[in-house]
Amino acid sequence: MHVLVINCGSSSVKYVLFDGDENRVLEGKRERLGPTSGERAETHQQAIAAILDSLGDHRVDAVGHRVVHGGADFFESQVIDAPVRAAIERRIPDAPMHNPFSLAAINKAQEALPDIAHVAVFDTAFHARMPRRARTYAIDQDVADTYGIQRYGFHGISHQYAAGIAAKFLERPLEDLRLITLHLGNGASATAVEFGRSTETSMGNTPLEGLVMGTRSGDVDAGVLLSLLRSGEFDVDQLDDLLNNKSGLSGLSGMGNDLRDIQQAAADGDSRARLAINVFVHRARKYIGAYAAAMGGVDAIVFTGGIGENSASMRRRILQRLEFLGCVLDEDRNIDASVQTDEDYALITTGRSRVEALVVKTNEELMIARETVKTVSKARAPVALSVPIAISARHCHLTEETFAALFGQDATPTPIADLSQPGQYACAETVDIVGPRNKIEGVRLLGPLRPSNQVEISTSDEFHLGVDAPVRASGNVRGSAPIVLVGPQGIVKLQEGLICAWRHIHMRPSDAEAFGVENGDEVSVAITGGERDLILGDVLIRVHENYALEMHIDTDEANAAGLGQGARGHLSASDVDEATLVYTGLDETALVH
Ligand code: ADP
Repeated sequence: MHVLVINCGSSSVKYVLFDGDENRVLEGKRERLGPTSGERAETHQQAIAAILDSLGDHRVDAVGHRVVHGGADFFESQVIDAPVRAAIERRIPDAPMHNPFSLAAINKAQEALPDIAHVAVFDTAFHARMPRRARTYAIDQDVADTYGIQRYGFHGISHQYAAGIAAKFLERPLEDLRLITLHLGNGASATAVEFGRSTETSMGNTPLEGLVMGTRSGDVDAGVLLSLLRSGEFDVDQLDDLLNNKSGLSGLSGMGNDLRDIQQAAADGDSRARLAINVFVHRARKYIGAYAAAMGGVDAIVFTGGIGENSASMRRRILQRLEFLGCVLDEDRNIDASVQTDEDYALITTGRSRVEALVVKTNEELMIARETVKTVSKARAPVALSVPIAISARHCHLTEETFAALFGQDATPTPIADLSQPGQYACAETVDIVGPRNKIEGVRLLGPLRPSNQVEISTSDEFHLGVDAPVRASGNVRGSAPIVLVGPQGIVKLQEGLICAWRHIHMRPSDAEAFGVENGDEVSVAITGGERDLILGDVLIRVHENYALEMHIDTDEANAAGLGQGARGHLSASDVDEATLVYTGLDETALVH
């Protein structure tokens, strides 16, 4: 697929045409556009028209548009239709310098190329499913709801791309890694990428929060704004100008936002330039510490963006004093690090560093092209297959050692019923699980015994027990919550193993092919025709030869949809670009335990 990528900024449009092998066939940039560039400046629409003209006879199969703000509605890229356009329009007040121009570019491009798919790739999408605790500001929640005040996060395309490249370099699945990605350019942000998902990011409701940037302040005590407003010396526009254009490295140094100039002045002894560098570095290091704590550990720190890729001295300063985390910089590697080409990366820590640090070259355009191909292919995938829904009650999987401690050295699990997944069975044995607030009795053991303990509960159970269990895919219990298990012969305190199971669909490779999905993909599933229609986002696809096709949800999720045990549904062809599961009523017993 030949993809034209259009990256529309507030005063510039970058474009790249990729061929089917991800080669850059054509690229360019048109600058000084729009109202901020003077009255007679070229408009974004005129720029798009000129870009489309310049394509000549080149083949274009789809267009990928970068859209800064998709809000909480979109957690993945979308084929642009009327509802998607309306959603981008609704976000104009939150991203006044970006969304109007993206929309103008989209309209113009769709008008010129009406017969091919146009895809919106959102800067916010990667962060759209951050945990609620990370998304929520501690203000009156009625006000927050009324005004849509929550943390959205930005730079998601770059963070997701950098995390993917880092995982490739580390030769480990992204789902096993806790990464901190630092996009340090004119705009700057940090993201905690926990097992492939953004669980914290430094930009918030707008791209103003967080790290020190070229001209933006990042974090500032909100009280300062109140004082400045009360002083009568600043109105809203002046405050906006202060925080967005006259702060950051530029405001601190007094010499503009180009770090190279500031570094030169600092080397020559300029104290404001030195302070600018120190504040920038201190803030970035502070976020690394915070995110390591929020994730309960970190495997690698990833630098990208103009500063992250090019400034060895900033990387060295940021990583200073992080030895306590297990991150030990290799100064030679840091100085030699060079990332010039796509998918380039450079390791900058020593061989004995427990936490690796690396530099990767950001490539938002390539990421947008890939997202466009993926989104268009998915929209075209025919889906028409039947899927049973199984409702998993709380249960546990135990190791041999834990089983022996709870039920006695000579005991063995007693199978009482086969489950739908081949080789799995419910056992006669149950345990009590004890949290700080309450206990739950009679939690069923599922066999066979496993290499690690895993106790799966619902969100309601979490509140009842008074614990904080992360949502995890089965088997991924590292760093999950502790819990106490009580059996007839003993008590075991697990340091980790308590999770809320991530809803998922088991399928064989042949099913996956038919649905047009891959292992690790996430789909949205619309359950209709039951008591209550429900759309479940975030459904993980798990593919293995030994699986039986089946969707697993927990009791909370089943109750929300008004489903009973034995529900069955089918994935039907639909005009939405996601798999749609249509609930068709009770007719078969699925997993029951
Ligand atoms: P944007 O966020 O606008 O895409 P970039 O990612 O291009 O910005 O980053 C621009 C920043 O990178 C500028 O502050 C620039 O000074 C800095 N930068 C680029 N090259 C170097 C370098 N060799 N040394 C230090 N800073 C650099």
